[in-house]
Amino acid sequence: MRHPKDWWRQCGERLSKAGIPSRLGVSLAPYTSFHLGGPARVFVKPTGMRDLLLVLHLAAEHEWPLLLLGGGSKLLIADSGLDAMVVHVTAALDFMTRAEDAIEVGAGASIRTIARWTSMHGLSGLEFFSGVPGSVGGAVYMNAGGREYEMAKVVRTVTIYDLATSRIETLARSEMDFGYRDSALRHAPLIALKTRLVLRPDDPEKTRAVMTELLERRRRAQPVQWPSAGSVFQNPPGFRASALLDQAGARRWSVGGAEVPSFHANFIVNRGKACADDVFQLMRRMHTVVRDRFAIRLRPEIIGLGFGSLWAETFELPFPGRLGTLVRDRD
Ligand SMILES: Cc1cc2nc3c(=O)[nH]c(=O)nc-3n(C[C@H](O)[C@H](O)[C@H](O)COP(=O)(O)OP(=O)(O)OC[C@H]3O[C@@H](n4cnc5c(N)ncnc54)[C@H](O)[C@@H]3O)c2cc1C
Repeated sequence: MRHPKDWWRQCGERLSKAGIPSRLGVSLAPYTSFHLGGPARVFVKPTGMRDLLLVLHLAAEHEWPLLLLGGGSKLLIADSGLDAMVVHVTAALDFMTRAEDAIEVGAGASIRTIARWTSMHGLSGLEFFSGVPGSVGGAVYMNAGGREYEMAKVVRTVTIYDLATSRIETLARSEMDFGYRDSALRHAPLIALKTRLVLRPDDPEKTRAVMTELLERRRRAQPVQWPSAGSVFQNPPGFRASALLDQAGARRWSVGGAEVPSFHANFIVNRGKACADDVFQLMRRMHTVVRDRFAIRLRPEIIGLGFGSLWAETFELPFPGRLGTLVRDRD
């Protein structure tokens, strides 16, 4: 059930009383790499840690549905928007400090900027992320990575805010339950504030060469010139989603302005005039063809928000509902 406009206006007024500026009905399209999505009921962009914690505290206290937005590079937000307060964290948590063999990075920092900086300063470990858009927090949440690499390899600790208890805690890597595109943040109302990453000293020339090579490989293999959200589906155990979709003939399929590019069957690009529903319908078609042809159920890697139970029903996912007040991919 959507909350009435007045309910959200009062939420904005409470924020304003606490000294936090917010806006009502802000389109989320400019905040996602797909350039798609309807409005957020309330949009907040705290400028520092103190303000962010105040917003999270108020959200927990008043049970405001809340989405934490990083770089928006893994999200498909419904055209009807989100019945939630969207908290854009990139500005509030954009910091980095160096400490001997580790760096401490705010969850709002850009992962590819950090990758470039550490490489330039003779630290190896983040080269893979030179071409990955989004924030450090999003990369931890998703355990972002590729065939031979993932975020979990460099994380030592993650400092989180727990919406259920309103407490800040530092979790060790072993408590983060990292898995394939998975972490503890996906299963509990936890918000990453910062993380400590362990890197190895190395020759900056060498790390730069590795990054250039990886970037070129990515440019050749992925349609980086069009808005997208990276891989559409996860690889099922023992298979590659792109190979299954390729064999099923999905390349060049399109719905409205959304298209599977000719050289990567597990991507969807926005050719300029797509709406979120075009992407959703195309994903549905891709999911169905692989299920019917190979009896394999592809699981979306893209996080669909604002589709209600339709998302879970279409992709045959469990639908346990929200994690407390937090709007997550179960929404
Ligand atoms: C061209 C392209 C290439 C890509 N290549 C790759 C790749 O090689 N490997 C890969 O894994 N991914 C890839 N991606 C996907 C994406 O870049 C990563 O998943 C990225 O880590 C997501 O971070 P984000 O900040 O954009 O997250 P968002 O899209 O903003 O959010 C994703 C989820 O994380 C949650 N979240 C964000 N920040 C926090 C936080 N601080 N605390 C708790 N939850 C949080 C959000 O609520 C949301 O549920 C690619 C995307 C594009 C567009």
